[in-house]
Amino acid sequence: MTDMIKIEDLSKKFGDTEVLKGLNGSVSKGQVICVIGPSGGGKSTFLRCLNLLEKPTSGKVTFESNELTALNETQLNELREKMGMVFQSFNLFANMTVIENVKLAPVKVKNMSDDEANKLALSLLDQVGLQEKADAYPASLSGGQQQRVAIARALAMNPDVMLFDEPTSALDPEMVGEVLKVMQDLANDGMTMVVVTHEMGFAKNVADQVWFMDGGVFAEKGTPEQIFEHPKNDRTKDFLAKIL
Ligand code: ADP
Ligand code: MG
Repeated sequence: MTDMIKIEDLSKKFGDTEVLKGLNGSVSKGQVICVIGPSGGGKSTFLRCLNLLEKPTSGKVTFESNELTALNETQLNELREKMGMVFQSFNLFANMTVIENVKLAPVKVKNMSDDEANKLALSLLDQVGLQEKADAYPASLSGGQQQRVAIARALAMNPDVMLFDEPTSALDPEMVGEVLKVMQDLANDGMTMVVVTHEMGFAKNVADQVWFMDGGVFAEKGTPEQIFEHPKNDRTKDFLAKIL
């Protein structure tokens, strides 16, 4: 099977600080990878390098057989449409309704007709359980609802992979579950996902592979069972002891 994403010897420096130190990995179609690890370890930088929001200092990122690190910005933008991204802060457009947020990219970028975009947006809002909020403004929604809209908005471009950077970290505890549920459904439907998360329950239940990142390296990779039940690396053990 060919890899959807391949990461080869990926390094990133900010000035003299080496934040990513020669990472390797691959993500195959339908796989869910959870990236866990302590704050400052490089998780967000790694995720942003996958769609070249952050330019690697060296190494290669290949997505669907395209070497992203060799492309120009126009070529990159085309491929980025296939990589949905959801951040900790939902970043919805406050002056647009929920449905306008969701259909914006398909209309602007894909020239989808208004009719078709409305249909698509409503079906995606249904998928995240928010069809009845289509005409509401983001400010009137809870954090969990806003994040579900952000997921629907990312899905509107029909991505082949979804990248999540701590999508539940900014939420009140009672709203974490509803967002994780949407993500779990997405995974069950076969979406390829790379998820940076502190939600160890989600990683245990949903991930095919868990990559433990610390100090700019993947200190340990394995199945949830290997990482959570039988960690080999001392840094993994320390981290899990602190958070579990
Ligand atoms: P994590 O997501 O695991 O908390 P980050 O990828 O955000 O880690 O950060 C890893 C390291 O890179 C941190 O030391 C952080 O301060 C540094 N860093 C991240 N972004 C920048 C930047 N734009 N400029 C300088 N340093 C950065
Ligand atoms: Mg981060």
